[in-house]
Amino acid sequence: MEPYFAKTPKIIQNVFSDFTWRITKSSNQLKQIYLTFDDGPIPEITDWVLKTLDKFDAKATFFCVGDNIKKHPKEFKNILNKNHSIGNHTFNHLNGWRTNTKKYLDNVKKTEEIIDITSTKVLPSETDLGWNKLQNTKIFRPPYGKIRTSQKRALLKKGYQIIMWDVLSADFDQNISKEKCLKNVVKSVENGSIIVFHDSIKAFEKLQYVLPKTLAYLIKEGYTFKKLA
Ligand SMILES: [Zn+2]
Repeated sequence: MEPYFAKTPKIIQNVFSDFTWRITKSSNQLKQIYLTFDDGPIPEITDWVLKTLDKFDAKATFFCVGDNIKKHPKEFKNILNKNHSIGNHTFNHLNGWRTNTKKYLDNVKKTEEIIDITSTKVLPSETDLGWNKLQNTKIFRPPYGKIRTSQKRALLKKGYQIIMWDVLSADFDQNISKEKCLKNVVKSVENGSIIVFHDSIKAFEKLQYVLPKTLAYLIKEGYTFKKLA
């Protein structure tokens, strides 16, 4: 048995209700899914994801690692140019449970700064537009889903929405097949679901199989794909 849930149990969603697990507020007639991609941007992989999303006319949200934005600004700009949303995923992919709160918050701030700097460069004619103005909401996803209460409180106070997920593809898990990964998604998805994928080297082999199939399947089921924030 894997040490994670492909579908986040409702009890967990209810107990930790100041996190966003699924988008339930929008009118229920609209069938909408929120795809998210963590840990990028990574050359080639992020661009492949962007191209695939385009093919299916899908918008998504990228929870970027600050250090990867610094290393790969071109790929980061490509995400913005395609009008997807950007979320903060710390600068060094920190595990909140193992990191003191000050260090954690500094790491989030450092990511805000690199997002701001790189976003501004992408819009040279509108240099006064910072990242916060590009998006309505600041969004954050804790790496591994692990965050201390003190860290969570501080980020909420800073105006962050903390985005978890209700569907985990487990594309990072080297011990499951790509078919199982697809099944994780298809079996667990419901209206308003937030699905986690990774634009990372580790997940790429599975992602290439699972992402186009997920998109095709859900479109057939009548869903459209929206970005968060
Ligand atoms: Zn991550």
